Amino acid sequence: TRAISLRDVTKIYPRDVVAVNRLSLDISPGEFVVLLGPSGCGKTTVLRMIAGLEDITSGELLLDGELANAIPPGERQLAMVFQHYALYPNMTGEQNISFPLKIESPGRDTTNQVRETARLLGIEDLLDRLPAQLSGGERQRVAMGRAIVRRPSAFLLDEPLSNLDAKLRTRLRAEIATLTRHLGVTTVYVTHDQAEAMSLGDRVVVMRDGVIQQIGAAREVYQRPENVFVAAFVGTPRINLLRATVHAPLDGRLNIDFGTQRIQLPQPLSPDHQMLRVQMGREITVGLRSEAARIATPQEMRPTEALLNGVVQHVEFQGHESLVHVSTGAHPARVEG
Ligand code: ADP
Ligand code: MG
Repeated sequence: TRAISLRDVTKIYPRDVVAVNRLSLDISPGEFVVLLGPSGCGKTTVLRMIAGLEDITSGELLLDGELANAIPPGERQLAMVFQHYALYPNMTGEQNISFPLKIESPGRDTTNQVRETARLLGIEDLLDRLPAQLSGGERQRVAMGRAIVRRPSAFLLDEPLSNLDAKLRTRLRAEIATLTRHLGVTTVYVTHDQAEAMSLGDRVVVMRDGVIQQIGAAREVYQRPENVFVAAFVGTPRINLLRATVHAPLDGRLNIDFGTQRIQLPQPLSPDHQMLRVQMGREITVGLRSEAARIATPQEMRPTEALLNGVVQHVEFQGHESLVHVSTGAHPARVEG
């Protein structure tokens, strides 16, 4: 298992397409890191540069502390699993999984290694089948098997579940997390699905237009987004983003003015709200997660709460909870991307 470091890495494709822009990231041995961002933000390019499938325009890739920009892909001991897992259609599960071993040393008996790998993935009973006789999820398990059978020192997974249905995705992502932790192998997992990223990552790296926006534990990225893009990209239902200005009236309690109404912040201010003092008089963007709000009458307010008036527009029943749409007259903040 290995350490992977990117130092100020830039990738420029022909026609001056800057896919990755001065990206720096240190991944510790055995760590599970998720690269998260919208389509086209450069995630696949980062993985391909780590794998050696794409040249690095400038900057350094270090594998276990050693400069690796010029090491051929075959010598990096990394395994990559793609969204479109290409299994050989005329080979059984067993033959597909043993293929990388046979390439290494053609005459070798691979039975035990393949069995052990199949056991890890719970696919012992699929070894005799051809890909056409497997479901999407089963095929992806076989593809994983082929990737891990050589015990690579790191895994690079590029949206490995995006072709699967929602239920299977949820199950397989938990299995992948368990498996890679069990193997203790460094894993870089790419996804555009924020829910997947939240559930998987020791650390989540949020990207946009080739640039890292934030690196942090899933909880941190969710609760303390460093900018409006991260706030809006992470979390379902989407965070409410409202334009407002901060005021301090005579009694010293901070007000947030949404244009049509003001809320008065409870005293004393929480550490999160302290920074609002600096923003006095300026336009700010207020992010309000739905779970941070509750619906109540003014009489039911608690001392730690602030009251924002609104009219319930619509209630979405979602089983374990309901999503309530409320209009407050506040202006939504614009977020690009
Ligand atoms: P993601 O995996 O996050 O969707 P990619 O790394 O595939 O993003 O692409 C990042 C940017 O680089 C996009 O603008 C994409 O169009 C561009 N790009 C990707 N591959 C190539 C290529 N081979 N040649 C030119 N541009 C490319
Ligand atoms: Mg991609």
